[in-house]
Amino acid sequence: MPVDVADVAIAGGGIAGLAAAYELTRRGLTCRVLEAGPRPGGVIFTERFDGWVVDAGPDAMLVQKPAAVALCRELGIADRLVSTLQPRTAYVMREDELHPIVEGSFLGFPVRWSALARSSLFTWGGKLRMAAEAVVPRGTHDEDESIATFVRRRFGEEAADYLAEPLLAGIHAGDVERLSMRALFPRLIDAERQSGSVMRAFRALHVKPSPQGAFVSLPGGVGELVDALVAALPPGTVQTSARVTDIERAGTFLVSTEGAAVQAGAVLLAVPAYAAANLLRAFDTTLAGLCDGVAYASTATVAFGYRREQVRHPLNGTGFVVPRVERHPLLAATWVTSKWPGRAPEGHVLMRGFLGGGRDPHRLDRSDEELVATAREALEEALAIDGEPIFARLYRWTRQSPQYEVGHLERVAAIEQRLPSIPGLFLAGSGFRAIGIPDCIADARETAARAVTYLTTRSTKTI
Ligand SMILES: Cc1cc2nc3c(=O)[nH]c(=O)nc-3n(C[C@H](O)[C@H](O)[C@H](O)COP(=O)(O)OP(=O)(O)OC[C@H]3O[C@@H](n4cnc5c(N)ncnc54)[C@H](O)[C@@H]3O)c2cc1C
Repeated sequence: MPVDVADVAIAGGGIAGLAAAYELTRRGLTCRVLEAGPRPGGVIFTERFDGWVVDAGPDAMLVQKPAAVALCRELGIADRLVSTLQPRTAYVMREDELHPIVEGSFLGFPVRWSALARSSLFTWGGKLRMAAEAVVPRGTHDEDESIATFVRRRFGEEAADYLAEPLLAGIHAGDVERLSMRALFPRLIDAERQSGSVMRAFRALHVKPSPQGAFVSLPGGVGELVDALVAALPPGTVQTSARVTDIERAGTFLVSTEGAAVQAGAVLLAVPAYAAANLLRAFDTTLAGLCDGVAYASTATVAFGYRREQVRHPLNGTGFVVPRVERHPLLAATWVTSKWPGRAPEGHVLMRGFLGGGRDPHRLDRSDEELVATAREALEEALAIDGEPIFARLYRWTRQSPQYEVGHLERVAAIEQRLPSIPGLFLAGSGFRAIGIPDCIADARETAARAVTYLTTRSTKTI
């Protein structure tokens, strides 16, 4: 069996594994990224064909978290970053109608009573209950709670159903009753703690929406970032169709794939938590069990291209989300060509529908044909679309969305406490403490820096 040698072996070639490899290379170390799939990027995948640019997974990078934009700058592609098109309105479906989210809101939550009063999304009873958030007493305990519990407690049932569920839990394709408020939205908890009211705290910040919008992408889709990262690494660094099957430690690590191995002074696992669990079991079954306890949801993205005149809806925004209480097959939809420039040939529109997630886990048991037909029918009805799509593409993301459920931070703390018992082994990526592209990049680069410190202080560099 051929044995390659590097300072660090990285399992997983998603954005976390690639960003870690970039950081190690920048600091003068050698590494190998061993990726199970046929291409690097993990859930970041952009298809480009006949003038269409289709992001199969993520399509946006949050500017407020600087790590993604900073990496683009280092890679020399920052001048290619594009902002979302105007208007940036997102809609929420209620009784088959699309209602804009409250103007000037923070994560969908109203900051001003006047804007809430004008909203067509909520009943008057719901609006009054939300406005009363200003006088709801602070929570009295320090324990983690679900997004639903927090929002119900502060803003009432309607806000939990029509904001928290589709928007806060929806971003994570998760179950609002299970996802952790503390792990996912600590700013809302801090707002409650510090000023007694979330609405008051955000109003006091006087945050004006940036004219550039909150998100950026690249003209060739988020996949451009993956292409640029791979191009910045020495040739041969990234090895695809190389699933790590086993890790042994005898002084240095021997990281095996089917038919090959890498000998390395340190190992960085940037794979889903359940995949990390499999690789850690031989070292520490408790640690493996903790990793295995991170739940994952499955989703499907279905992309469609149409001629503009086939769609009667004005597509005047970025898309819509669908609350669970609507009992609708779609989780959400993006009007891609209204959100980003240059994603379709002139006179055409691109849209994506999302299915599955924590609220509808069995949806993905259906055949490809059924999923495409379901998404198509739902979009055609919501947006008054006539005729056949020019193309339809289905992307299945099976167990690809980690669910930071109540207690996640305690779980991660327990993992971090046990991990040093395997010196030289590091964990990064979305399964643990980094949701979304910017956080995955920041987390992976920090973890890579720790691996460098480990190797330098232990003098276990293999070459
Ligand atoms: C549909 C969807 C839409 C999203 N939209 C956004 C968005 O718009 N903006 C945003 O910021 N975030 C978004 N996210 C989240 C973001 O994409 C992820 O948090 C991030 O890309 C995860 O990166 P990662 O490297 O940690 O994991 P992954 O991308 O999952 O990479 C892990 C890699 O490990 C590989 N692997 C698994 N087992 C092994 C093994 N044994 N050996 C070797 N390799 C292995 C896998 O093949 C995979 O390539 C979205 C996610 C999804 C699923």
